Amino acid sequence: MIKSRTKIVDLLKMQAGIPVMVKGWVRTKRGNKNITFIALNDGSTIHNVQIVCDMNLFTEDMLRGATTGACLRVSGQLVPSPGAEQAVEIKAEEIEIYGTADPAVYPLQKKGHSMEFLREIAHLRPRTNTFGCVLRIRHAMAYAIHKYFNDKGFVYLHTPIITASDCEGAGAMFQVTTLDLNNPPKEKDGSVDYTQDFFGRQTSLTVSGQLEGELGAMALGEIYTFGPTFRAENSNTPRHLAEFWMIEPEMAFYDINDNMDLAEDFIKYLVRYALEHCASDLQFLNNMIDKSLIERLESVCNIDFVRLTYTKGIEILTNSGHQFEYPVYWGVDLQSEHERYLVEKHFKRPVILTDYPKEIKAFYMKENRDGKTVRAMDILFPKIGEIIGGSQREENLDILVRKMKEMHVSEENLDWYLDTRRFGTGPHSGFGLGFERLLLFITGMTNIRDVIPFPRTPKSADF
Ligand code: ATP
Ligand code: MN
Repeated sequence: MIKSRTKIVDLLKMQAGIPVMVKGWVRTKRGNKNITFIALNDGSTIHNVQIVCDMNLFTEDMLRGATTGACLRVSGQLVPSPGAEQAVEIKAEEIEIYGTADPAVYPLQKKGHSMEFLREIAHLRPRTNTFGCVLRIRHAMAYAIHKYFNDKGFVYLHTPIITASDCEGAGAMFQVTTLDLNNPPKEKDGSVDYTQDFFGRQTSLTVSGQLEGELGAMALGEIYTFGPTFRAENSNTPRHLAEFWMIEPEMAFYDINDNMDLAEDFIKYLVRYALEHCASDLQFLNNMIDKSLIERLESVCNIDFVRLTYTKGIEILTNSGHQFEYPVYWGVDLQSEHERYLVEKHFKRPVILTDYPKEIKAFYMKENRDGKTVRAMDILFPKIGEIIGGSQREENLDILVRKMKEMHVSEENLDWYLDTRRFGTGPHSGFGLGFERLLLFITGMTNIRDVIPFPRTPKSADF
């Protein structure tokens, strides 16, 4: 009897005629009194292996526990399969049931379940075909991101998750404290005395690693961060999570155009990587979730993104004659309906929008000579809206300090950040890509809660 386990992904590529052993979870069991077929999946691929049990060798009793969801070890011979669906199957000789899954209570029976129901059992949904695909693709994309930057000589910089710089302005923050919330120490004026807190000051979970990333870039040249990011906004949309992962490259000596070139090349690389390395998972999602998925992915690899100023974008929207829910005027922060109109209706391809009004963008973005706009660049994608937000950074100390004053950003808290401009400042740029927004595009899933294993959203932090 063979002792080592073969993964199903490898087994399906092997030649028949050898003894094999597999371990996995039952997807389906069917048959009659002569023969039983078990479809077994071990998570290594979307495909199952068919286990054929000759009922002269097994009793019904022996297979009673091998129902949907049960965990098995199967030993037998790899033989050619007469079925059209697979080249090989396993003629079972021995089956050990590690764990049963009582059909009366196991929630994942054969029938299709709604995404909403699966969210309620997020601890079990990785065992479905759809979530198996999504999670394998999520892994492949994480690997491809590191590979892309490593091949280009970028340094992976680990920026802190707990931070005391509360003023980046990217979003509302979750406070981190060990103070007794029922009885916090107070100052004379009645406010909370944070000097008695764990860090001796008020701290929060980070909304972005960018400020620390800039310090890295101004020493190492080109860096990227890839880590969890937290926003305490009460936005209940299919595109917002309270805890999401962000990739933030930051590059010394890049201007806004170099920044756009990198961002476009990076996204195309990741899409191409998925097409090349996740073909069977994408095919499944194309069949079951979104019939135009693969076509859309292929088209993004082969077209140039549109590059357009915010001002021209506003012109197109106002001249469109389209009735938007939110009014369009120069200075407005674009809503996703506006972004999607430009991408899906007007240009029918990804758009990089640049040179936004300075009032609606962060203090660190470099001012243009017009004194009204900043060198921002947002990449807008079909079905998603904003997937990347970035800019050239203001490298001039005096202008940066003036902008911080104008925008009420505390200089005292960010004195360390200003040192990049005090000592050896230079042009630099960077951007942030939301990992889950990327995954929405690559998988064709429509709700961001379904591309992360355990979503955190307002009023929901189960599992
Ligand atoms: P939006 O306008 O879509 O709320 P933002 O402008 O607040 O996004 P940035 O601060 O520019 O976002 O963050 C950079 C990137 O991080 C965005 O382009 C997006 O891909 C992603 N992102 C931002 N907020 C979230 C969120 N709450 N959940 C998931 N991804 C997010
Ligand atoms: Mn943004």
